[in-house]
Amino acid sequence: MNSSSPLFVARVCPICGSSENRPTVAASVPAETMSWDGLRESWRGLFKDKSFFTYHRCAGCSLLFSPTYFTDERLGALYGDMEENMSEVAGDALVSSQERYFHMIADRLSLRGGYLELGPDVGYFTRKCAATGLFDAFWLVEPNKTVWPALRKSVGDGRDAHMLDTLDAIDDIPDASLAFSASVHVLDHLTDPRATLLRIRKKVIKGGLIMSVTHDESSTLARVLGRRWPAFCLQHPQIYSGASIRELYESAGFKIVHIEKTTNYFPLGFLLRQGLWAVARMNPGFLRHADGIRVALKLGNIMAVAVAV
Ligand SMILES: [Zn+2]
Repeated sequence: MNSSSPLFVARVCPICGSSENRPTVAASVPAETMSWDGLRESWRGLFKDKSFFTYHRCAGCSLLFSPTYFTDERLGALYGDMEENMSEVAGDALVSSQERYFHMIADRLSLRGGYLELGPDVGYFTRKCAATGLFDAFWLVEPNKTVWPALRKSVGDGRDAHMLDTLDAIDDIPDASLAFSASVHVLDHLTDPRATLLRIRKKVIKGGLIMSVTHDESSTLARVLGRRWPAFCLQHPQIYSGASIRELYESAGFKIVHIEKTTNYFPLGFLLRQGLWAVARMNPGFLRHADGIRVALKLGNIMAVAVAV
């Protein structure tokens, strides 16, 4: 990367294209005022006071998004040196959340065809879907190639599985072949989520389903924590609500059939550490002893299910 290349790009609303918006949530030190070195450290969570780009409310569709965000080149560099996502959450807690997401969608899965998942990681959700026996081809977009062997295994032996390292590779999937497409905490990260959904729409059979889990900026948790809500961060160029996720899907040829607030399971010690960090900037190590206890919480996430029309 050229060190003189621009840091930021100006964005219109990624759903409706409006350039009318008003500032709504700002960090104590907004990301758009920081240097590249400072942003790199903040990205890795090294600062006590985390930063994020000021979120604005779109006048057209109500989406909460950052009209100033990293260029694709800078974003690629940041993801390139990021450490393992959510590495502090114990593996079995992640499994519980992903299994819960599967059980929330399982009754709606009946169509046979291809399967697409964005950001499956090692394939906790993938494994549950593969076990239904409904899917004849698996397309898995996972940029972290170190998890590919585990991901391949989650689909099962002898299955037709395709590991894709970029969203562009979605174009390689045969048109109108997918019965189901899923993403868990991916749409919040995309700088052009509508373009990705339009790309997916071409690949889904009419009547096929698409499901996502995203953060919910209209949740009680978000309102109570304000700028300290963990989902306000450098990695999220926009954050949805039930209303704006509906706008997003419907702008890309899908019709929402179900929206539900989801439950997440976290180790108690992790929650206490996060809570103490958010309010008091304390991180006592002894709280690790509480990690054996798992707690179910409505943590400000939404599952949205839509059908290709
Ligand atoms: Zn908008």
